[in-house]
Amino acid sequence: MLGGKINYTKLWIILRIFNYKLRYSTLQSSGYFINFMNFTNFMNLFNFHTHTSYCDGNSEPEAYVKKAIELDYHSLGFSGHAPIPLENGFAIKEENLLDYCDAIRKLGEKYKDQIHIHLALEIDYIPGITKDFNDFSKLCLLDYTIGSVHLVIHPENKQLWFIDGGNIAHYDNGLQQIFNGDIRLAVKAYYHQINQMITSQNPDMIGHLDKIKMNNKNRFFTQYEKWYKDLVSETITIIKEQGSIVEVNTRGLYKKRSEELFPGIPVLKELFQQKIPVTISADAHKPEELNLYFYETAAILKEIGFQTVMVFDNGKWKEEAIC
Ligand SMILES: [Zn+2]
Ligand SMILES: [Zn+2]
Repeated sequence: MLGGKINYTKLWIILRIFNYKLRYSTLQSSGYFINFMNFTNFMNLFNFHTHTSYCDGNSEPEAYVKKAIELDYHSLGFSGHAPIPLENGFAIKEENLLDYCDAIRKLGEKYKDQIHIHLALEIDYIPGITKDFNDFSKLCLLDYTIGSVHLVIHPENKQLWFIDGGNIAHYDNGLQQIFNGDIRLAVKAYYHQINQMITSQNPDMIGHLDKIKMNNKNRFFTQYEKWYKDLVSETITIIKEQGSIVEVNTRGLYKKRSEELFPGIPVLKELFQQKIPVTISADAHKPEELNLYFYETAAILKEIGFQTVMVFDNGKWKEEAIC
């Protein structure tokens, strides 16, 4: 089932039925009476990658907290895009950063009896341009950091290639103009930038590890080519040495920009073999995106062999059983 493409809808239905049966038999044998209509899941629900209107999300932070409580979430982590010293439409403005941190902390206090709220940033890494992750951590007293590469710097001409967003023409033009159409050089620059981010900034979590493949859509390369697999393996070795957590990001699926999670199945299998801890993230930009593909992703991880995911609780990361 895991070779090549996965039919996520089918897998979702099969696993939901299986999960339901499993719960039913477990609960019956334990003698509990239960109203199944009100029963959600044994697993604590969470999302540690969330964007609000302080950056490129669509709602005030409180709307996400209310939605998470409605969904019976245990934890919600806010991870606005950290300010970057470049003109852009997605990051928190430098002058609003402390307001953002303050707003999240206040919500944590206001709703502390109902949900655990955490303060984080998704921080871009562009060598020579972005600030040290530690500067943000100290300034905002962050609970954790997500390190991501959305802009790839050319190693020589220093121009930036924006690899995210839904505009494929923009990706193609950048590849052509900045990297002269040399996809191997461009992808190598992307993974080397991630490697440098991990070793120099030590983020708690690596954001959407293989997002470089999103707008590629199997046109310039596939994730099964040796040169590509070698680059990913090199990055995974560094992740292992550094002890970082890799998020399994569902946004590409529900935005229909990707047929796969970030990272995709072959990379997830390698992460499992290398015993690298993972967590599940919606990368939500709207309250209603908080729980999209959570169960399906948990099911896929379990099928690969993962028994646990990482959750942030009481000031540190810990393992939570997938069930
Ligand atoms: Zn991102
Ligand atoms: Zn994000």
